[in-house]
Amino acid sequence: AVRVRFAPSPTGNLHVGGARTALFNYLFARSKGGKFILRIEDTDLERSTRESEEAMLRDLSWLGLDWDEGPGVGGDYGPYRQSERNSLYKQYAEKLLQSGHVYRCFCSNEELEKMKEIAKLQQLPPVYTGKWASATDEEVQEELANGTPYTYRFRVPKGSLKINDLIRGEVSWNLDTLGDFVIMRSNGQPVYNFCVTVDDATMAISHVIRAEEHLPNTLRQALIYQALGFYMPYFAHVSLILAPDRSKLSKRHGATSVGQFREMGYLPQAMVNYLALLGWGDGTEDEFFTLKQLVEKFTIQRVNKSGAIFDSTKLRWMNGQHLRALPSEDLTNLIGERWKVSGILTISEGPFVDEAVHLLKDGIDLITDADKALNNLLSYPLHSTLLSDEAQPVLEDNLSEFSASLLAAYDNYDLLAELEEGHSGWKKWVKGFGKSLNRKGKSLFMPLRLLLTGKLHGPDMGASVVLLYKAGITGIVAPNYG
Ligand code: GLU
Repeated sequence: AVRVRFAPSPTGNLHVGGARTALFNYLFARSKGGKFILRIEDTDLERSTRESEEAMLRDLSWLGLDWDEGPGVGGDYGPYRQSERNSLYKQYAEKLLQSGHVYRCFCSNEELEKMKEIAKLQQLPPVYTGKWASATDEEVQEELANGTPYTYRFRVPKGSLKINDLIRGEVSWNLDTLGDFVIMRSNGQPVYNFCVTVDDATMAISHVIRAEEHLPNTLRQALIYQALGFYMPYFAHVSLILAPDRSKLSKRHGATSVGQFREMGYLPQAMVNYLALLGWGDGTEDEFFTLKQLVEKFTIQRVNKSGAIFDSTKLRWMNGQHLRALPSEDLTNLIGERWKVSGILTISEGPFVDEAVHLLKDGIDLITDADKALNNLLSYPLHSTLLSDEAQPVLEDNLSEFSASLLAAYDNYDLLAELEEGHSGWKKWVKGFGKSLNRKGKSLFMPLRLLLTGKLHGPDMGASVVLLYKAGITGIVAPNYG
């Protein structure tokens, strides 16, 4: 049975890299009818916090990545926090001591430092060369009787080790430069790599899908698997997420945590879709996927070996795709609410909002764009527009005669009366107006748009003018707006 896990260390926020690892695990589990397990790796007690854990769980839930076992939901393989599994680690450490895969090392820090220095001088790898790897039972008993503190040190075999990574293919290591490593400190604290191995084995994890930066850990973990006689899971190491300049993605590249994107107004479905494309594709040009479609299409074989570039412009574009894919009522509610909250309108729903959303939605990729779009429509920057170079040809086109006719249309109320009728009234009026001036096409619409909206460009003019008219007579534009 497929059992995969996402194992965050609760020492900060959930970043896009972690979220992508979680997503790939989730997709793999769901596509195989397996289980997706969440394990909290809080062995670093000083840096781990409950707040961080809670924030990570909230971010995962927001993304829609629900877990089958783990904090909050329980399961048969718990507890799911490393800090609550200490007795298990001790038990397996003892087992390794009994079988001789681990020995007690009584070296002091000074001795270990000395070893490192000598290795450095001799330009040799800093491997453990202390006497405890081959100490006699009497020597050990003597130190135990003296109460000398000791660590549990893993006896690394000679030779080499290789794994078949599902993404990277064969990965092999020379063990001679590794050196015997500590699995339990003198204060009884088990070290990270040991905990992870015991956890993955006892939680019956079948596939370990995680970031490439854990490859050096995989070497140590594989040795521990072998020593404990556990089946090794399949490994799949996913490449790093890079910034556009191909350096490692970090804070200086802008928002990188899932929470930041949520606060900026991104949709979880857009985040999920974009994260999936960081190193995966279905082999076609398709880029728009719902979580459900991703579950149907995801395979590990299609995960790319090379680093993926995090492009926030593309994420923003993708958000627009998902925004416009919402049921139109949801989209209208979302944008209407936004206009009310940001203080542009006094209302959040009604025919005006419906029409405005319909007219402006193509220019909205992120919910905050909605403000700018409506502001643009409502503002009337005639003076600055008239000064622009672009306006000069329009002005030379006998604008004074044109505007006199337009004013006359206002005075006779025929424009305003037709606008009461909405779009059909507008269409009728504009036809008659054009005829009276003997103009059509560009020479009609350019100056008309300029005079009626104050701008040279914008969304559909008829709809814009009708909306402007309605905004003017209904008083729905917030009094303190602009
Ligand atoms: N706790 C590790 C991290 O946050 C993950 C370890 C693993 O997936 O094996 O990077």
